[in-house]
Amino acid sequence: MSSVSPERRREIAEGLDAARSRIAAAEDAAGRPRGSVGLVVVTKTFPAAEVAVLHDLGVRRVGENRDQEASAKAAELADRDLVWHFIGQLQTNKAKSVARYASVVESVDRPKVVAALSRGATAAGRELQCLVQVSLEESGDELDGDAARGGALPDEVPEVAAAIKDAPGLSLGGVMAVAPLGADPGPAFARLAEVATRLQGDHPEASVISAGMSQDLEAAVQHGATHVRLGSAILGYRPPFG
Ligand SMILES: *Cc1c(COP(=O)(O)O)cnc(C)c1O
Repeated sequence: MSSVSPERRREIAEGLDAARSRIAAAEDAAGRPRGSVGLVVVTKTFPAAEVAVLHDLGVRRVGENRDQEASAKAAELADRDLVWHFIGQLQTNKAKSVARYASVVESVDRPKVVAALSRGATAAGRELQCLVQVSLEESGDELDGDAARGGALPDEVPEVAAAIKDAPGLSLGGVMAVAPLGADPGPAFARLAEVATRLQGDHPEASVISAGMSQDLEAAVQHGATHVRLGSAILGYRPPFG
């Protein structure tokens, strides 16, 4: 594994401290108990050696969005007690690989993916927690395209959730979403909270709300996020299309 310079180590430690302070301040502002919001550090594009530094600093949950990159890092760091969250668009032909190292798959948005993950989890003898990724685009927006961001429409969530619940090797954890680009994240996260409340009516165990990234974690915590996914706020600049 390549080594990490002392300067970079310090930078990562400072980024992590700053992120933890922001989360604590957001919990206070929302009137929520300290420690009620979990942190997933998004490590995509950053080398395994830097993930090891994060682990040294107490981070356990890390998020990745590409199977090839994630599986290599998970193999390299197999001796660390890391919990890998898969947060990227998931093709059915990658599900088998993802099921070997991920513990949480946050980007489940259609029954076909559920079936593929279930086969992968069963083959690997593992249990995967699945979150239903919800599209927060205003209705109609998906027509002009950001379909690449993925996510089930709010009306489709019950079907995807039921499929997860019925699938061997999978458990239903809750919901995940990304705020729409260029829009106020507050109303979008409020819609997500409504979707989560309805889902919990049918499935009380589905308590996870994964929402909030470096730009909008405060709004997400205000609207009930149980987990935030932070990359650039901690690790710094990431080349586009990472
Ligand atoms: C990259 C990514 C993040 C982290 O984004 P930052 O803006 O770097 O905090 C969170 N969630 C998903 C789904 C991502 O792809």
